[in-house]
Amino acid sequence: MTMTTDSRSLTFRAAAIVLGLAVGPAALPESGPATTAPAERGIDLAGIDDTVAPGDDFFAYANGAWVKTTEIPPDRSSYSTGTMLEELTSQRTAALIKQAAGRRAPAGSEARKIGDYYSSYMDEASIEAKGLRPLQPTLDRIAAIEDKEALARALGGTLRADVDVFNNTNLYTGNLLGLWVAQDLDDPARYSPFLLQGGLGMPDREYYLDPSPRMAEIRSKYQAHIAAVLNLARVADAEPRAARIFDLEHGIAQAHWSRADSEDVVKGNNHWTRQDFEARSPGLDWPAFFTAAGLKDQPVFVVWQPNAVTGISALVASQPLETWKDYLGFRAIEHASAFLPKAFVDESFAFYSRVLTGTPKQRDRWKRGVAAANAALGEVVGKLYVRRYFPPSEKARAQEMVRNLTEAFKQRIDRLAWMSPETKAKAKAKLATLKVGVGYPDKWRDYSGLEVVRGDALGNARRAEIFEYRRNLAKLGKPIDRTEWVMTPQTVNAVNLPVMNALNFPAAILQPPNFDSTRTAAMNYGAIGATIGHEISHSFDDQGALFDATGKLDNWWTKEDLAHFQASSRELVKQYDGYRPFPDIAVNGKQTLSENIADVAGLAAAYDAYRLSLGGKKAPVVQGLSDDQQFFLAFTQSWRQKIREPALRQRILTDSHAPAEYRGDTVRNLDAWYVAFDVKPGQALYLAPADRVQVW
Ligand SMILES: [Zn+2]
Repeated sequence: MTMTTDSRSLTFRAAAIVLGLAVGPAALPESGPATTAPAERGIDLAGIDDTVAPGDDFFAYANGAWVKTTEIPPDRSSYSTGTMLEELTSQRTAALIKQAAGRRAPAGSEARKIGDYYSSYMDEASIEAKGLRPLQPTLDRIAAIEDKEALARALGGTLRADVDVFNNTNLYTGNLLGLWVAQDLDDPARYSPFLLQGGLGMPDREYYLDPSPRMAEIRSKYQAHIAAVLNLARVADAEPRAARIFDLEHGIAQAHWSRADSEDVVKGNNHWTRQDFEARSPGLDWPAFFTAAGLKDQPVFVVWQPNAVTGISALVASQPLETWKDYLGFRAIEHASAFLPKAFVDESFAFYSRVLTGTPKQRDRWKRGVAAANAALGEVVGKLYVRRYFPPSEKARAQEMVRNLTEAFKQRIDRLAWMSPETKAKAKAKLATLKVGVGYPDKWRDYSGLEVVRGDALGNARRAEIFEYRRNLAKLGKPIDRTEWVMTPQTVNAVNLPVMNALNFPAAILQPPNFDSTRTAAMNYGAIGATIGHEISHSFDDQGALFDATGKLDNWWTKEDLAHFQASSRELVKQYDGYRPFPDIAVNGKQTLSENIADVAGLAAAYDAYRLSLGGKKAPVVQGLSDDQQFFLAFTQSWRQKIREPALRQRILTDSHAPAEYRGDTVRNLDAWYVAFDVKPGQALYLAPADRVQVW
């Protein structure tokens, strides 16, 4: 949950959590859901480019005509089936929220909260009239900081539950540090507070340190952006202050871990007692920091990037107080910008969306309002959404697919020739305790403690953030709640919670064309089936292999099994390192490894599950395509995407997923694909049978 529900945080989020998939017509009518007749809902034949041989470039074969005729909407940095479904879901949730706003439900009720939250955000006239006033108390408090102890208190006061190492894999926070409360990796019976590095205004350390001219240009634009924000806030001497703020962030970036290091679970699992902070990270007044953060009685933390915390803490001591105050003031404005007057919103868009992702047009305010309401009161909106759009029959149908996928996985484990019986038994134990959530959580979050005041857009956002922070702090010392969801039902995505050994498949991803009762089983298994398989297999990928059935960080593989697994992983790293979207930049096979393993394993399991679903019957030819052709085309069409160059470059640096195009080419690791499309040696995607990666 974040206060920056503008395009910036959406962009960062998108980079972290995109799974967005599936197939469908190039665009849906603005007015509502796809109402096309069943016959038109199969494989998108018009989207195929049959001038390309499937074996040379399967993504281009499956999607080439669609790519040629599709324009990325001006308010988007990319366009895909996922974004199309997001648009549709956004329209639906907006209608539900507006209904709630119009009714003026009883004070304190959930409907009233959501209505008031949205209305306050949409009331631009009142936001404009107030100017910076709603933020003034915060800025005054920063101005009054007179020593490093007060600075530590101010920094501690910014700590929020805004990062997530494994679930949504959101490693970014603009605050100096970020908090994630999750099951402890050594002791699955309790929650631990995880502290992550933060404090940068740009998405990753690379933006500060990469010497290329491209990045140097982005840096100078960022410094100009800082100055522009300070000028808008009528801060004197904006340019020299901007230079000092930039330098401070540059210093923070130097202390940061790289994305790949931050994804290394074993490296990150460092338990620090309170004394360790003083001993190992002098500089920041830790007692003052933790007291302000409401964590003064917490004895142990997991410090995910220890030397980053040490480096950041040293900067608190070495850099002048005035610089830190300027930095804090600037960050406070940035953080609030979505809820400030238009000039601030536009300046934020100009840098974060136009410069960083190449998006020309700002998203309509109502769409940003829906996103803001989802961020603050996600499960309230979700409850309304599933009541209207996710009937029990759809839930049952999805659960049936999950059962087949799980069974397919179990059979694959049994069949693996290279795996020892002990490891197999442990893998099956893990599969048996996997908790699969479909559509929405079993129990909904209680928002009764959240105060929403009509007319106070910024205050509402701040209270929602603090509410979420306290909700997370309250978990400390309590038993683990395995029913908790980390995605709202109206999210077009899916997620594996590796430590909790649980999966969430939100209702919004379980809709056509991903999951469509009018399409053939082969198509459904190729699209949503592969996604379900992808998420299940995360429990068994390079990270999943580290956690046992209880979520304890305890590698459950024998040495030999692990060696085989790592050898397969190396092959896959090589495969993805070979993909070059631009001459100067390649996909990072190591950074994307877990996701790539999940793609390969998920597709293979979906293929088996499809066979299981047939129960020995033969499937008919549909649209002139065999069922295997339908399966693979549905899969790769589900990965269709157009993306602007700066956005793609940003994702390659910050995303743990490979670009969509290469995810669509996962098919080259399955033998059945070679038969279905008559792929021969010499073709560009051809892999000799020994080079096809089969982890599971
Ligand atoms: Zn994944």
